[in-house]
Amino acid sequence: MSKKISHFINGKVYSGASDRSAEIFNPATGEVTATVDFATPAVLDEAVKIATIAGKEWGNTSLTKRVQVLFAFREILNARKEEIAAAITSEHGKVLSDALGEVTRGLEVAEFACGIPQLLKGGYSEGVSTGIDVYSIRQPLGVVGIISPFNFPAMVPMWFFPIAIATGNAVILKPSEKDPSASMLIAEMWKQAGLPDGVFNVVHGDKVVVDAMLEHPGIKSISFVGSTPIAKYIYETGTKHGKRVQALGGAKNHMLVLPDADLDLVADAAVNAGFGSAGERCMAISVLVAVEPVADKVIEKIKERMIKLSTGDGTKGSDMGPLVTRVHRDKVASYVEAGVKDGATLVVDGRNPTVNGSANGFWLGPTLFDQVKPNMSIYTDEIFGPVLSVVRVKSYDEGVALINSHMYGNGTAIFTNDGGAARRFQNEIQVGMIGINVPIPVPAAYYSFGGWKASLFGDTHAHGAEGVHFFTRGKVVTSRWLDPSHGGINLGFPQN
Ligand code: NAD
Repeated sequence: MSKKISHFINGKVYSGASDRSAEIFNPATGEVTATVDFATPAVLDEAVKIATIAGKEWGNTSLTKRVQVLFAFREILNARKEEIAAAITSEHGKVLSDALGEVTRGLEVAEFACGIPQLLKGGYSEGVSTGIDVYSIRQPLGVVGIISPFNFPAMVPMWFFPIAIATGNAVILKPSEKDPSASMLIAEMWKQAGLPDGVFNVVHGDKVVVDAMLEHPGIKSISFVGSTPIAKYIYETGTKHGKRVQALGGAKNHMLVLPDADLDLVADAAVNAGFGSAGERCMAISVLVAVEPVADKVIEKIKERMIKLSTGDGTKGSDMGPLVTRVHRDKVASYVEAGVKDGATLVVDGRNPTVNGSANGFWLGPTLFDQVKPNMSIYTDEIFGPVLSVVRVKSYDEGVALINSHMYGNGTAIFTNDGGAARRFQNEIQVGMIGINVPIPVPAAYYSFGGWKASLFGDTHAHGAEGVHFFTRGKVVTSRWLDPSHGGINLGFPQN
């Protein structure tokens, strides 16, 4: 008997019935482990009404008390992180150590949010005109919506909600319907930490509830992370309904290798960043751009490492787990076929891997292509699987032009021992997050995460100072405390 997952509204699991639901799979066994109820617009409306009332009170709660809840949440999350990691592995498939790593990165945002009193400080100018002072304050938006993808069921929601809650908002989180359990555990932890009921709510579902969120006048902002076509739709629809929207989309991350780079480090980085989490990371490296004459040597070193990678059940110490669904596994495998058909050289074929796990899992081993050309679909499209392409270029300039002409601009990396070249790269490249000898340059929580071009719609990146800005509205107050000497009529602007 599989378990049933429902919404978390007003501090408890929703007990109402649902006429639509979806199955949740364990990707390592292919078995159905749970069903998740889908919310109707009426259920969402109920959640928004509750969140509006709870959020108002929470927003008026002192910073001291809010911070106490945040600290408690941080402690509980840290103590129970293995539980979340296990839930992620069983629904997403990524190996346990990687699942734990994702929770830890989310935890860092919770830690950042514990410093909210400092982050919310405004400015104060005394005596801008005679007897007049000006100061700025930032206030919560009210109820904010978060819509997250399957690939980071804990970390991505945590890019947003610790800051949203710290700044005094109430949250409606709509996690991916493929792996919703992590958000239910997190909801439970907020309650345990003393967050008032109704401030953190989870509704499950698909397009129906997403559309209801985009249109609901009670939801003031949307933070979305997912594929580019949906991100664009979310941005356009949400802003049309008067909401503040940050919509992070897909990616195709290149790694530029200059001839002077340490090729062992390059090969380690390419394998870790290309095949970690089975390539289902928005910051995964999917293209290695080799400035000749290094390609042959790099490919040899990558191949040596790939042969040693183990694919299997994430609970059994494998390097790489299964893909999230059978449909996604087949889609990624179809790209391997397309690459062969388009004339790329298949160096390592991952389509029939030896697996440490059930025969019914959604398996695909790591694949490496050489001689990939910019017009091939394995180069143009986001594959979101363990497929690494090598494109050979003649010069640094050709490599930079290639990266800059791709539609995506999430992350990129340069591998070199030449500081001047690295400095030029960081200036010239049209990408939001850059690694210098670092293949997955995910910014620390106190910086902001976000790409350029088709990798982000909206102008605000996630977490860091931009996150605080996104979840608050600014006010500037001009004040004068009357002094009899300042009376009298003057219709112009005060000038002294
Ligand atoms: P997805 O776009 O299919 O789904 C994301 C969210 O949108 C889910 O909650 C889903 O339920 C909802 N959704 C799906 N179809 C919808 C529709 N037609 N209308 C409204 N809502 C819809 O993405 P995914 O497959 O869950 O995640 C993988 C994608 O997310 C990749 O493209 C990856 O690059 C991207 N991603 C980007 C970042 C980033 O920071 N830029 C981070 C993680 C993942």
